[in-house]
Amino acid sequence: MSRYMYEKHYPGHKSVFKLNDIAIGEDFVIAAGPCAVESEQQLKAVINQIYPYVHVVRGGLFKARTSPHAFSGVGSSGIDWLTEVSQKYDKPVVVEALDREQLALLAPKIDIIQIGARNMYNYPLLAAAAATERIILLKRHFAATVDELLLAAEHILTQGNPNVILCERGIRTFETRTRNCLDLGAVAALKQLTHLPIFVDPSHAAGDASLVPPLCRAAVAAGADGLLLEVHQAPAKALSDGPQSLTPSQLKQICVDVNAILSGVFCRDSRINVEF
Ligand code: PEP
Ligand code: MN
Repeated sequence: MSRYMYEKHYPGHKSVFKLNDIAIGEDFVIAAGPCAVESEQQLKAVINQIYPYVHVVRGGLFKARTSPHAFSGVGSSGIDWLTEVSQKYDKPVVVEALDREQLALLAPKIDIIQIGARNMYNYPLLAAAAATERIILLKRHFAATVDELLLAAEHILTQGNPNVILCERGIRTFETRTRNCLDLGAVAALKQLTHLPIFVDPSHAAGDASLVPPLCRAAVAAGADGLLLEVHQAPAKALSDGPQSLTPSQLKQICVDVNAILSGVFCRDSRINVEF
């Protein structure tokens, strides 16, 4: 008998959550959209360009910004804009909730509730999120161990909600060249330890859009079940996380590369010079 609900019991054991026509945990999932929804026009402009490559639309409405002077999101007025886009393109939506009030606003209309890195340790919020019965995208805190992430997931699972996606988004190390250090070792370890789907967010790890494509490829190779990506129609003008935001055409190229890796035909410039 195992002690924890997150535990994998046999090599092929995996949780699969059906959402519209996607099977999270089985199909590879691209969840992408702006860091922050800035206006109805901006949301429509970016999603209109990326919807063919996206399974789930992301868009932050309540932003946990490090500086209180930074843009903190449009708030609940964006819920209807996201619902409209979701219906128009038939794509589910993921939005972060920072507290119980926001959970109550989002849960009736938003398919996936994101618990951000800063709130991974907020156990009452995890319990409240579980009670919405929505799929929960749980991001790893930037100072959390793999076991702490798994136990945070356990707080949701033990409340009777089995629909948890884990998300590696980079941790703090001595390195300053990247915003955070994308811990793909954790992804490989999580794949062994848990049946839960594991997404990777290279945008917040890299902090730099030019680093995101190679990190996406590496994440897929490490066994990720999906990617969470920030995309903006004009990254230089973004009100939040512009430097790490992809353009729509960069997202398209990432999807081509991910597909190639998943189909086992990814071609690199050089090859290992041995006969197989
Ligand atoms: C986000 O994905 O919008 C976000 C704020 O990320 P994190 O919680 O990982 O910092
Ligand atoms: Mn962001």
